[in-house]
Amino acid sequence: MSNTPINSTNTNDVSMFDSVLARLDEAAKLMNLSPEVSEVLRSPVKQIKVSLPVSMDNGKIQVFKGYRTVHSTHLGPSKGGIRYAMDVNADEVMALAAWMSFKCAVANLPYGGAKGGIKCDPRSMSVGELERLSRAYAQSMKDVFGVNKDIPAPDMGTSGREMAWILDELNKVTGEDSPGIITGKPIALGGSLGRDAATGRGVMVNTFAALKKMNLDPKNVTAVVQGFGNVGSHAARLLSEKGIKIVGIGDHTASFYNENGIDIAAALAYAEKNNRILKGFNGATEIKSSELLICKCDVLVPAALQNVINEENAHKIQAKLIVEGANGPTMPKADTILNDKNIICVPDILANSGGVTVSYFEWVQNKAGYYWTEEEVNTKHDFKMEIAFEAVWNNVAKYKTSMRIAAYITALQKLEQGVKLKGAY
Ligand code: NAD
Repeated sequence: MSNTPINSTNTNDVSMFDSVLARLDEAAKLMNLSPEVSEVLRSPVKQIKVSLPVSMDNGKIQVFKGYRTVHSTHLGPSKGGIRYAMDVNADEVMALAAWMSFKCAVANLPYGGAKGGIKCDPRSMSVGELERLSRAYAQSMKDVFGVNKDIPAPDMGTSGREMAWILDELNKVTGEDSPGIITGKPIALGGSLGRDAATGRGVMVNTFAALKKMNLDPKNVTAVVQGFGNVGSHAARLLSEKGIKIVGIGDHTASFYNENGIDIAAALAYAEKNNRILKGFNGATEIKSSELLICKCDVLVPAALQNVINEENAHKIQAKLIVEGANGPTMPKADTILNDKNIICVPDILANSGGVTVSYFEWVQNKAGYYWTEEEVNTKHDFKMEIAFEAVWNNVAKYKTSMRIAAYITALQKLEQGVKLKGAY
């Protein structure tokens, strides 16, 4: 494994939660959101911070910081991933939890929003250390997580493996086999077919929906994808399988460009054999990581980190369409620059909602004890995603605003009902 630590953001001095509030305020003003509802949504329901002492392989005990924020429960139990990265902190988790509330509302899922994380560097830890850390986190959150309460899932730095350990630990606490307490599980433990690729699939469906509105023929379109993990690799694969030429890819180890198109199947096979990293891939020219986002292409898919599109590089972006696979890749000031350049940006809370949509399907299947085929999952996913895209697109015209603010408005219209109907003490 590479020893480069997973950093979830490269601009730590900027409050991510402030970015959420800036967008919330802009949308609230345009749609005339009730100030009380706005006030409720500005304040997360619950914030938990824990210390996790873990026995390391060297015989010493290391104490890790763990977090969980439940942002809202107005539309259903809270839902959101668990991130393992060195930059995990309370502000980031709070912002990601709020985005989950908006994302679930845009996708019309019966969920509130939450997020969790552990400040750690998973790439430098052994499997045994990661298992003990995951189990310690599950124990510390046993009163927070629940199949009808708060349902975690994978995020950056975690996968089905960590979900399986957390599931096992939670089931030991309750003495029940309750697979729906966590999603993104391995198939053998009640995971859903199609979940692994779902976020990338959602990116693909949103890309095609936007290209159609822009009257661009996918056969003549080129794309660049930043990030080659769960979201980026599936997005690149699905876009290329559907005929879009992928000219740029990159991860934390290396970035590549090939104007004639990159063989994504070859890149995937290379990464699979190379500890899931791209360094050393020879199917394209290696470029600087800072060049990847600004190189010539029609569609840009940031699918790695937050805050990567900022005031410094936004005016150099050449893409006509940005589809946000990552959470929070574009900073608020960059939004203004992109809007001025007429670059359409399908925002994270719509573009990457495929993952939580199929997590919802996984939860439904777990509750029913009846499992769907991959084709059923994909069909239902694509249908839901297209409806969500149309709802946001219609609000662009109705409120004469960007897709990002239109997506917030779409979410707030639902959340407003939930907050008002449930009322207060
Ligand atoms: P992952 O850990 O599977 O992959 C992250 C990728 O980003 C890796 O390829 C890594 O090398 C790359 N990366 C890290 N630092 C980089 C850098 N400095 N420059 C370029 N690339 C870098 O994570 P993931 O699950 O694919 O998540 C990626 C983003 O998508 C995150 O913002 C996450 O919150 C968001 N997201 C994930 C899901 C999901 O289902 N996994 C759902 C919605 C949103």
